[in-house]
Amino acid sequence: MTMISQISNRAYIDGTWHKLENSFEVRNPFDQSLVANVADCGAQEAKIALEAAVEAFKYWKNKTGFERAAVMHRWAQLILDHQEELGRTMTLEMGKPIVEGRGEAVYTSTAITWYAEAATRIAGEFVPSRFPNKRAFSRPEAVGVVYGITPWNFPAAMLARKVGPALAAGCTFILKPAEQTPLTALYLAELWEQAGGLKGVFQVLPCQDPVQVSKVLMDDPRVRKITFTGSTEVGRLLYGQSAKTLKRISLELGGHAPFIVFDDADVELAAATVAGSKYRNAGQQCVATNRVYVSEKLKTEFENALAKATSSIKMGNPLELDTNLGPLVDAATLAKVKDHVADAVSKGARVVSGGHATGGLFFEATVLSDVKPGMKILEEETFGPVAPIVTFHSEEEAIQAANNTEYGLAAYIWTKDLGRAWRVAEALEYGIVGVNDAVPSAMAPQAPFGGMKNSGVGREGGMWGLDAFLEVKYISMVLP
Ligand code: NAD
Repeated sequence: MTMISQISNRAYIDGTWHKLENSFEVRNPFDQSLVANVADCGAQEAKIALEAAVEAFKYWKNKTGFERAAVMHRWAQLILDHQEELGRTMTLEMGKPIVEGRGEAVYTSTAITWYAEAATRIAGEFVPSRFPNKRAFSRPEAVGVVYGITPWNFPAAMLARKVGPALAAGCTFILKPAEQTPLTALYLAELWEQAGGLKGVFQVLPCQDPVQVSKVLMDDPRVRKITFTGSTEVGRLLYGQSAKTLKRISLELGGHAPFIVFDDADVELAAATVAGSKYRNAGQQCVATNRVYVSEKLKTEFENALAKATSSIKMGNPLELDTNLGPLVDAATLAKVKDHVADAVSKGARVVSGGHATGGLFFEATVLSDVKPGMKILEEETFGPVAPIVTFHSEEEAIQAANNTEYGLAAYIWTKDLGRAWRVAEALEYGIVGVNDAVPSAMAPQAPFGGMKNSGVGREGGMWGLDAFLEVKYISMVLP
């Protein structure tokens, strides 16, 4: 078992664990205790990593898909074997309940396995020719050196969805994990090394301030692709920066998911489904329900059912197995949640259950009703355990309200009417729609994941996620 203290103060560059003079602290959101001092990389480390990634690309891209798959399969197995430690590391650095952390480790392994298998299936096509003496082919080739930036809310899963397809395609990968959660990424690098991962193929550069590392990699034309998950604001910045060297870009950005509960819904089940989507990871998910639209006819019944569902959520130490709701990741996240609730209440919303910060970084699982347009909670991503209920009278009104946002990542509906399910799923301007399903992307690395509008560019998951790391070369040959 790897101890956090063994890897924490090192960066993984060119197959070596570099101890740096500068470090920064990672603190446990549960009690603010020090988890570790972590190596703080800057421009110099980024330059070394870039040279290593460029060198490694020369041989990694020329390995067969079967050879790349073999290393990745070993890595996936090690991740599965270390799910307990990985789950614990995630819990310590960002506060998610350990049961969710372990589940994320299993997902991570599954995603790496899926892309290991995909590595053996990358194939070109025979392209028809109008000329009898010509033969033509398309040949997929790795894009090149990739720079990846991941967020803190799913520190292992977000890494897997990027690194998995990139390595399968034959790219080399430099990762800058979020400053709140570098340890999970370092742990995964340690397992990569144990799996026999070649030097320079996958590197991890933790840093407190992302700008210095990013500048080196965003400015250099040899980095051919940037893949990012995080806020829309930073995504826009990177989109702009990538224009200079025309990097390929994938962006998974913010969400503001609506959940529409129609009047034919089974209210208890619908409330349980909303709770499942809303309170996981304390609501700190890009796909978390952020607005609940409930048919006017079900208003009171649904409010009571959702309040009942929240009453069984146990808030506490996220290392304990029966905890469902841990602390929020940091003070800024808590402040935003408090602000959204206070703003809504000051404009006429009613607290049905919860509603309070209870000390430290904890905020209760909350249900708000009588929520109206003009309240911040209906306009911005809350990223906390608060479900605001808005009522509607017709299907058209619900669709219009759900689509009335700059975001378009995930949306949910609850209905027993199959015609309505299709109609509404097709009308929603979202990349992912869950019909009676709180977690459409759970354990599904094979499914497309991504957003419309300001929620992103491109898709992760499945062969869509692999294509994002491939160029297509067209080869045409005249026969002698
Ligand atoms: P964030 O954008 O502040 O940070 C994400 C990452 O970007 C971190 O690694 C951070 O260090 C880095 N970063 C910040 N400023 C940067 C800069 N100037 N240059 C380079 N890198 C920079 O986001 P956050 O608040 O940490 O994460 C939450 C956001 O991520 C939410 O908006 C959430 O919806 C989104 N998210 C989206 C998905 C998805 O798949 N669409 C998944 C998870 C989270």
